[in-house]
Amino acid sequence: MNLHSSQKPHAAHAARVAHGPAHDGVRRAIALFGGTFDPIHAGHIAVAQAAQRRFHLDGVYFIPSSRPPHKSRSELTPFVHRYAMVALACAEHGGFLPSLAEAPMDGATPPFFYTVDTVRRFRREHPDDHVYFIVGADQFLEIPTWKSYETLLDSCDFIIASRPGFRVDALRLVIPPEKLGRAPANDAHKIALRKSVVHLLTTVSSHVSSTEIRDRLEQQKSIHGLVPPRVEEYILGQALYQ
Ligand code: ATP
Repeated sequence: MNLHSSQKPHAAHAARVAHGPAHDGVRRAIALFGGTFDPIHAGHIAVAQAAQRRFHLDGVYFIPSSRPPHKSRSELTPFVHRYAMVALACAEHGGFLPSLAEAPMDGATPPFFYTVDTVRRFRREHPDDHVYFIVGADQFLEIPTWKSYETLLDSCDFIIASRPGFRVDALRLVIPPEKLGRAPANDAHKIALRKSVVHLLTTVSSHVSSTEIRDRLEQQKSIHGLVPPRVEEYILGQALYQ
């Protein structure tokens, strides 16, 4: 079984993605969207949909991390719940695919998962596809702290989703000058690097965060509209975040 495609395909293009690399000579575009997804929310969905439209993505892989190196919060919701919510959200959107790429291994304590390794793995498994990595502006600003981030910047194109309060011009500052390409900076939504391109997705600006959802639930407030309907049902049914 393809590890990244445990979900029924919803459209022809999703089916092509779900069944592995293209054999028809058409180069497909896929995006990897990593996160803790604790829980997945309307902001994540809005970003993925905007990216899907703008970059004509055949598949968006949502990759919940069982042990993210950059989140210090100790009590993450168990992976199985976070993955279930991602899968429920993906079921409502053609081309969205829940991925087990950063699932715990064999019941043992999982290692940290690093984006550079996950991207390398997808590139190996999808050698003919154009691979993007979707990341929020807040996380991209932290990229110099990520494992082998210079290698990562060379490994795929990036789609950076704006988040309220983050300035687009600050994003350029975290890219080492020697990585920058020679192309003139005549496109405000694109930073050309020597080996890749960083695209800025500024059409979406959602205030929703997982923190807000967890806080609201703790205070017994409604989360209606802040998460997909089936995710809301799951959270309430499983009494999560109370
Ligand atoms: P938390 O509040 O627990 O820190 P979060 O809402 O940031 O969580 P994550 O699962 O950590 O959610 O996010 C996964 C990715 O999605 C990150 O790259 C993050 O920057 C991005 N992201 C999350 N929410 C938004 C949003 N509202 N707009 C744009 N990007 C977002």
